[in-house]
Amino acid sequence: MDIAMAGAGLSCAVIGRELAEQGHKITIFEARSHIAGNCHTERDDKTDVMVHVYGPHIFHTDNEEVWNYVNKYAKFQPYTNRVKSTTQGHVYSLPINLLTINQFFDKTLSPKEAKYFIESKADMSITDPQSFEDQALRFVGQDLYEAFFKGYTKKQWGLDPKALPASILKRLPVRFNYDDNYFSHQYQGMPLKGYTAMVANILNHHNIKINLNTAFNKSQVADYDHVFYSGTIDGFYDYEYGRLPYRTLDFVKKYAEGDFQGCAVMNYGDEDVPYTRISEHKHFATWEEHKNTVYFEEYSRECEPEDIPYYPINLLEGNELIAQYRAKAAEEDKVTFVGRLGTFRYLDMDVIIKEALELANHFKI
Ligand code: UDP
Repeated sequence: MDIAMAGAGLSCAVIGRELAEQGHKITIFEARSHIAGNCHTERDDKTDVMVHVYGPHIFHTDNEEVWNYVNKYAKFQPYTNRVKSTTQGHVYSLPINLLTINQFFDKTLSPKEAKYFIESKADMSITDPQSFEDQALRFVGQDLYEAFFKGYTKKQWGLDPKALPASILKRLPVRFNYDDNYFSHQYQGMPLKGYTAMVANILNHHNIKINLNTAFNKSQVADYDHVFYSGTIDGFYDYEYGRLPYRTLDFVKKYAEGDFQGCAVMNYGDEDVPYTRISEHKHFATWEEHKNTVYFEEYSRECEPEDIPYYPINLLEGNELIAQYRAKAAEEDKVTFVGRLGTFRYLDMDVIIKEALELANHFKI
């Protein structure tokens, strides 16, 4: 079968590879000059640091099959994401853990004491939190919410946290011990040679042909037996019902000698600091040594037509537009929409791979 993949990010790479193994002929169309989508990595000219060009990507999963899959295509280095947050004039540890609580409230609480203490601060009248704000007030209370989440979230999403779903905050754990691992997953790591090298290995198969700098055009659907489309779903339909809302990111690149901030990711909780976070990429590659350093201030804003869409904005109230596009997509028999942009969901890399493997395993025309 002749199959086209629109995009060379993780979704299409994994589906393409699996179908190529099954004997199908895969043609990939990628509008950018490189593969790997938004997890693309490349070495910085000046410092030789491996840069996550579209922002930090840390691989973490609880799914053993997915972990085994990525380890087939890349050597992974142990990496634990330990994020810090600067807020109200102090530096704290994230996700909120016992050190954060004790430092923030100037206490020496034990795990049990901290749990009671936070419960005394939390709004226990909220029984079934639906919004981001309710979720925060219910589980950490007003003070921690305002210090760590309110300002950051307004900057990140451009919206009041009351309008956002609780699921966004549920990405982050709250811990009553000193574990400051940002993720609660069993497996975590970084590909030794970067994500682009991993995706290149996934795509390295005699049945896969890659066209870079070549956007897929909808009229080409007729040329193939099937198409996997990882571009924006609204773009595929020429924005017929209107544009779906996304946030885009601006990265301001800066250099320093030695070590700039001492960690990979520093979040900024205060609303009056214009960026959400600063990432210093040499700290993602703990096994490498670099004399100098490159870091990126990250600014989030509304995605305009010419911008790169990063985060789909899912509102608590839902979004009629996406329902309309999904209904239309469900009628397609030759096109399958995949990935973050194709399905308009906030997806981590491991979920992308899991779904891609499932799609490929069940693929039938
Ligand atoms: N968040 C926050 N303060 C932080 C970190 C995260 O309020 O210091 C909120 C914010 O709304 C963010 C969400 O939690 O969008 C999920 O955070 P995560 O670190 O998973 O975001 P990502 O790295 O995917 O941008």
